[in-house]
This record gives sequence, structure tokens and C-alpha cells, in this order.
Amino acid sequence: MKLKINGKEEIVEKESLTIAELLVVNKVQMPDMVSVELNGVILDRKDFGAVFLKEGDAVEFLYFMGGGQEQDFQTRAVHGGYIGGDQFWPGTMPIYETAAFACATAEEMADIFSGRKYGYIYSRTANPTVSAFEQKLNALDNGRGAVATASGMAAITTVLLTLTESGDEIAAAGGLFGGTILLFKDVFKKYGVNVRYAKSQDPADFEAVINERTRAIYVETIGNPKLDIPDLGALSKIGRKNNIPVIADATLSTPYLLDAKKFGVDIAVYSTTKYIMGSGTAIGGAFVDLGNFDWTKTKSTAVKTVSARLRDIAFLGVARKQIAQNTGGCTAPFHAYLQNIGLETLSLRLERHSTNAQRLAEFLEKHPRVKRVSYPGLAGNEYHEIAKKQFNGLYSGLLTFNLDNRAECFKFIDSLKLVKKMTNFGDAKTLVIHPKSTIYADFSDEDAVLAGVTDDLIRVSVGLEGINDIIADFEQALQ
Ligand code: PLP
Repeated sequence: MKLKINGKEEIVEKESLTIAELLVVNKVQMPDMVSVELNGVILDRKDFGAVFLKEGDAVEFLYFMGGGQEQDFQTRAVHGGYIGGDQFWPGTMPIYETAAFACATAEEMADIFSGRKYGYIYSRTANPTVSAFEQKLNALDNGRGAVATASGMAAITTVLLTLTESGDEIAAAGGLFGGTILLFKDVFKKYGVNVRYAKSQDPADFEAVINERTRAIYVETIGNPKLDIPDLGALSKIGRKNNIPVIADATLSTPYLLDAKKFGVDIAVYSTTKYIMGSGTAIGGAFVDLGNFDWTKTKSTAVKTVSARLRDIAFLGVARKQIAQNTGGCTAPFHAYLQNIGLETLSLRLERHSTNAQRLAEFLEKHPRVKRVSYPGLAGNEYHEIAKKQFNGLYSGLLTFNLDNRAECFKFIDSLKLVKKMTNFGDAKTLVIHPKSTIYADFSDEDAVLAGVTDDLIRVSVGLEGINDIIADFEQALQ
């Protein structure tokens, strides 16, 4: 039969064939990475084996707009994303440290530019090392596709610039990371995008701040540093009712603790600087379209404009082509390489971070000088039940505790010997910080309290050291 494939008339020597068969017959490179457009409309991947082609159909293969695969978490973490195939078959995805890539012909250049042919042009747009990381992360989240960014802040910015325009609003949880609150206040507000904060994690408080202009519900799967936990399923229902996606910053839970797709989250955002990179080696970010949202129903103008054609990948199309590429917050190949390696051991590290944090939280809870400990793994914690339901039985590596006042906190921090006085979390080393005098120094007392930060609070990122050594250091510093 005669088909139009990537804009060219071609004869396929078969009477009937599916899209999946056409991928094979046409020797399409990297079939896991390709999205297929049939007669101007993108197909769901699940339909590749069910849709039969007809004489005269027009088929386009589009790269870097989706893809995905399904295996056990640990298998996907080790093997996912690496497509191999250069002349030496390296065992680890190499660092393609180059700004641009040469093409054989002008026509090939045009095809790769348009996304019709698998290949690379310029590293701000796509790079093999970065693509491997995106594919691996997407495979871990079972998503429609992932986009890597220069930092967690760049990921949040890209997602929300994709979904909003001047006059739009975002309904957000109250206890967000300080940098995200400042991004909303210092940048989005200036461009006419207003953020309304829910008073608590009660889903009714989110409903109270949603209106006709709301374009997204924005939460953290475990708030940093409030360590409060939203009921994702309930928020997803509210999102569906209002045709707005739920965006969850899943930096603390990672794809290992939380199957965000299962709980109805639409887009997962990560500061990969933390657990995904591991060891605190570099800054990175990423976001994943988890495949739950029907983008033909979006109220976001830019995505709606392309949704009839791009359907499932409408959000990714706008996020990648209009926002990420134009704003330029791309990931360096070296950082993508570190993250590819980091993901391979994510599950092992998260297990140790979580069990160490649990032990330290239990120690602190019993200590007479400690007024309060916050850790979702503690049976008495107000978010323990929802954490148990949503996570895989682990509660990540961040905890907070309160002493009498700031002076006592400073004295404690200065007395630590092994534990580092350092911002960041997810490092292999245990880190402590006094949030009120650092990350939240520019916040009013009232805004800091909304974010869960008081003068008597210390945040701990529990590392991978032997737990006895961590506890011993805390014990001597509390004396
Ligand atoms: N989201 C959360 C929950 C964070 O804790 C952070 C940083 O600490 C960010 C986003 C920002 O990430 P990055 O520092 O990689 O830009």
C-alpha cells in the first residue's frame, strides 16, 4: 500500500499493518523514544499495536516528544534510557560533551531539526547523554516523557510557564520550599501570575483557593522543611473536576518511594540535585508528564492551542519546544551523566537514607532536650497514615527537630563534629541547617511560619554513614 511517511510517498509491501509493525518494517531507530503522528494526530502508545494503516495514510515519527517502557523499578533504574550503539558500545552512557552535532546532508539536517529523524543538532535542544537521563527517569515514573533542566528551579519555572499566562493563577500548598515561594513572589507575580496558598493540606483548603483562572494545583509530595504531606488522590479528584493538572514536586520522595502516577499526579517535578544525583555532586532538575491528564481539556492557552494535534504530548511539546528550548535552562551533558549513574543506585540509597532517618528520629524523640521531632516515619506523626498509604514503606531522609530557641540551635550546630553545617539534602553525608537564619532569612515571621519555619527549628538531611556514628555525634552535641 502507498503511505506518506515523514512527508515522503512510500510503497510498503503489505496489504495490512499496524503502527507497531510499521516501526519494524521501516527500521525506525530507537522505537522506545518515538511518538507517532497519524494523519495529523498523535497516537497513544498503547494503540500502536491496534491501529491498522490504510492506503494514503500520512505517518510522522517524532523524537524527543515521548516514549517509555515498563519493567521492575530496579531494572529500569539500571538499564532504562541507555540505548547504546556507538562504535565502541560503552557500558555506561558516555558524556557527549559537544555544543553541536554534524549531519551528513542538508536533508538529514532538516529532518532532525523537525524531529522526524532520530538524531542530534545542538545541545540546548537535545543531547544523547541528556536524552538517556530523560528516558531513564521517564521509565522510572512510567511517564509520557521527561525533560531535564539545569536545576530544580528551572524545572518548576518551565512547567509553570508552560501552563500559565498573565492573569492566570496557581493554587499552591502553604509549606513549600523557600526558593519556590520566592520564585512565585519575585518572578511570576511580576508577569501577572498570582499564587494562592491553601491554609493547610486539607483538600477543602485547596478547593477554597481555586477559581476560573486557576491553571494548576502545585504541591510538594513531602514539604521542605515543613514535612507535611498532601493527599494526592483527593487533590487529583479536585484537579479533574476543574480540568486543571496536579503538579507535584517529588524531590523528597523520588520515583522510588512514590508512584506518583498511581495517585493521580499529572506532572512530577524534581530537584535532581538531591537524591537523584546523589552525593551532592552537582545541580540538576527535571519534570515528567505522568500520562494522567487529558490535555484536550486543559484551560492553559498555549497547551490548548496544540492539544487537538498533539493530544497526549501537548504539554511536553509546549514545555520542550516553546519554553525549555527558548529560555535555555538546559542540562550540561556532564550533569546528565552523573544523574544517569545516580539513578542506578537510587533505590539502595533511599533505603539507607530512610532507615537512618527513622533511627535518628526515634533517638531524638526520646531526648530530654528535644521539644519536638518531625518525621513522617514516626507512628505519632500527623502525616504518618497518609505517608504510609502513598509511599512504599520508606519515608526519605529529611527530618526536623526543635530545641528551646535560636541560641540553643546555634550551640548544638557548632558542637557537631562529623555532621556537616551545610545547606542541600540528599547528600551521602549528614547535613544540618538552621532554616530561619539562612534559607528563610528574607521571610517575614508570618510567612516563615506558613512554611513551617521557626527560630527554634533545625533541619537534618540524614546521610549514608553508619547510624551509630550519626547518633553519637548528635548525642555529644546535645549534651
Ligand atoms: N524543590 C525542592 C523541594 C527543593 O528542596 C529545592 C532545593 O532545595 C528545589 C526544588 C530547587 O532545586 P535546585 O536547587 O536544584 O534548583
